[in-house]
Amino acid sequence: MGDNKGFLPLPKGFSTVAIHSGQDPEQWDSLSVVPPLVLSTTFKQLNPENLIASKYEYARTGNPSRNVLEECLAALEGAKYGLCFSSGLGAVTALLGLLKSGDHIICGDIVYGGSNKLFCELATPMGITTSFTDVTNLSYLEKAINSNTKIIFLETPMNPVLKVADIKAVSEMAKKRNILLVVDNTFLTPYLQKPLELGADLSLYSLTKYMNGHADVVMGAILLNNPEIHKRLRLLQSIMGIVPSPFDCSQVNRSLKTLALRMRQHSQSSLLIAKFLESHPKVEEVIHPGLPSHPQHELSKRQTSGHSGMVAMYIKGGLEARKRFLSALKVFTFAASLGDCESLIEIPSIMTHTAVPEDQRRALKITDNLLRLSVGSEDVKDLINDLK
Ligand SMILES: *Cc1c(COP(=O)(O)O)cnc(C)c1O
Repeated sequence: MGDNKGFLPLPKGFSTVAIHSGQDPEQWDSLSVVPPLVLSTTFKQLNPENLIASKYEYARTGNPSRNVLEECLAALEGAKYGLCFSSGLGAVTALLGLLKSGDHIICGDIVYGGSNKLFCELATPMGITTSFTDVTNLSYLEKAINSNTKIIFLETPMNPVLKVADIKAVSEMAKKRNILLVVDNTFLTPYLQKPLELGADLSLYSLTKYMNGHADVVMGAILLNNPEIHKRLRLLQSIMGIVPSPFDCSQVNRSLKTLALRMRQHSQSSLLIAKFLESHPKVEEVIHPGLPSHPQHELSKRQTSGHSGMVAMYIKGGLEARKRFLSALKVFTFAASLGDCESLIEIPSIMTHTAVPEDQRRALKITDNLLRLSVGSEDVKDLINDLK
């Protein structure tokens, strides 16, 4: 079992839903147990006088391989609707289609570098402004809200320093002012955190990470309950053309069947590794929401069913020690990205977080001796020996 003592209980029946939801063999003439991969871009229309007699029309607006995945994702989230996009950033791009010139976004000050760049480089020239705010501080958040604020966008735990935002508290503030709360739940997956149940309006994913988990698909998703926003996003998905391929959909659909198994392993191994690193004399500090030393350990236990495979550590000894350590690793791969079976390690200050200005990086403690580990599903003894 995953090591989630003191956290919310793990969701019941999760793997059963992951394996069966959207997958009923009787929906196919072949009675195929695994949904068929349908590559066709177009679908025969049965009746020229009644086009809705056929379920599908053209693959960008909908196709069987994508539909089964969207249905399964919605069920895992406990959401009414699910939409898949060509990437996690494709999903964030779709959010901009909910806004117009003059609108305002509040974005957490620590988010995925690409989301930060998207708001600055694409939204700003379109007349949509963004304030980057520390969303763990509710009085800062309150001050950042304007009459034109339409979306609060946050990630929790935050990449790379694993700070935790209180989704329920932020959602109460957002609801009072009719602001949509979007939570990027990529780091935890619906197995470990349910943003919609905590009051968020949209739960957003890079499926590229834990959800697919095999480092071979780039895809994104949004899960939600609101029918009007779903209708609008369904239109945007099609007219913006930000759709995934049927092949990739069938890969992710398969990967979801082992999501709970994989997350339990990531969770258990990452805590063992965090404890090992915390006791090591050459490590200055370790950040992991499952450690009692994590500043928001109590909030994490209230809000989530556990932690994923993400660990952040500050290594002692400067750039020379950092180089020696990274060059000596044999099981961990020195690479960006996260959530895969393969353990990965990276340097946020020069790899994933270069978009954050230097003074801000210093304030957020994204220093050159910070390393971000994505603990994979190899044997944990081998991982610890590698780090040793
Ligand atoms: C990777 C990532 C994204 C972007 O997803 P892509 O699939 O690479 O477009 C967004 N948010 C988080 C937290 C991520 O880790």
